[in-house]
Amino acid sequence: MKSFCVIGLGRFGSSVVRSLVKNNYEVVVIDTDAKKIDDFKDIATHVMIADATDERVLKNIEIDKFDGVVIAIGQNVQASILTTMIVVESGARNVIAKATTDVQVKVLEKIGADRIIQPEKDAGNRVADNLAHPDISDY
Ligand code: ATP
Repeated sequence: MKSFCVIGLGRFGSSVVRSLVKNNYEVVVIDTDAKKIDDFKDIATHVMIADATDERVLKNIEIDKFDGVVIAIGQNVQASILTTMIVVESGARNVIAKATTDVQVKVLEKIGADRIIQPEKDAGNRVADNLAHPDISDY
């Protein structure tokens, strides 16, 4: 069975986790916030209260063995960049990082994230595309 690791349980990370669990995948979640982790202890396969910028944390869970890693830390740009760097350097596959600013996008690209998501911007583009091309249903 495929397994994924989601780092950061903001709105974006939480919805990624819920969707993956709904599709019966194994999901390990990491967040520094004990309250957020508590909310997911009965949802995710495994939960960890930990700082993902600590290299040992990601090494211990063998981050390179997952089928995909989602770095859903947005506003803490420093933590987002550092975590993505550690994950990419570990050799992990399908590294998806969330960004909140265009500068963050550039840096995450440079570091080597496989895909970068800007939820509001991406959704806005899709809405505009749907309005412009109502005949094409899936953007
Ligand atoms: P969203 O828009 O998806 O709600 P956001 O962009 O506002 O999220 P943040 O709230 O900054 O993102 O971070 C998302 C989550 O990441 C938070 O729950 C936060 O506790 C967690 N987080 C931040 N830094 C780290 C870290 N170093 N290690 C693990 N989790 C972290």
